[in-house]
Amino acid sequence: MSSRRIVLTFPKKSVDKPIVYKLIKDFDLVFNILKASITPDEEGLMVIELSGDKKKIDEGIKYLTDQGVKIQPLSKDIKVNWDKCTQCGACVSICPTDALYIKDRKTMEVAFDPDKCIACELCIRPCPPRAIEVHY
Ligand code: SF4
Ligand code: SF4
Repeated sequence: MSSRRIVLTFPKKSVDKPIVYKLIKDFDLVFNILKASITPDEEGLMVIELSGDKKKIDEGIKYLTDQGVKIQPLSKDIKVNWDKCTQCGACVSICPTDALYIKDRKTMEVAFDPDKCIACELCIRPCPPRAIEVHY
């Protein structure tokens, strides 16, 4: 028995397909959804933990890729370079997990909670001074 945490991005056209059901039924995997949201471009985003036979997990992941689902391991590290950050708040509304949030409503100070971050990278492009960095 092994388990793997991955980030899935579902293209618009597959959001309503029974992909999760197939994973459970055909690959005998336990599927634990850690986080799910819809991005502003209507892509589905899901952070899951798959548990089961290692070979079945590999087969299940191949099935997902064949369905056009983008797979990312949860191994990237997102960092905010506060020296570059202008506290504009653009990243806060885009972050699906509230890892980037307004710490103080009076000063509108932006803060980052790495424990909530799923490394989806949605915040990277909207940040005007490119203050959010991905570390591998
Ligand atoms: S990568 Fe950015 S947008 Fe995605 S969860 Fe982490 S902080 Fe939020
Ligand atoms: S978008 Fe960039 S500059 Fe603006 S608050 Fe977020 S990290 Fe700071």
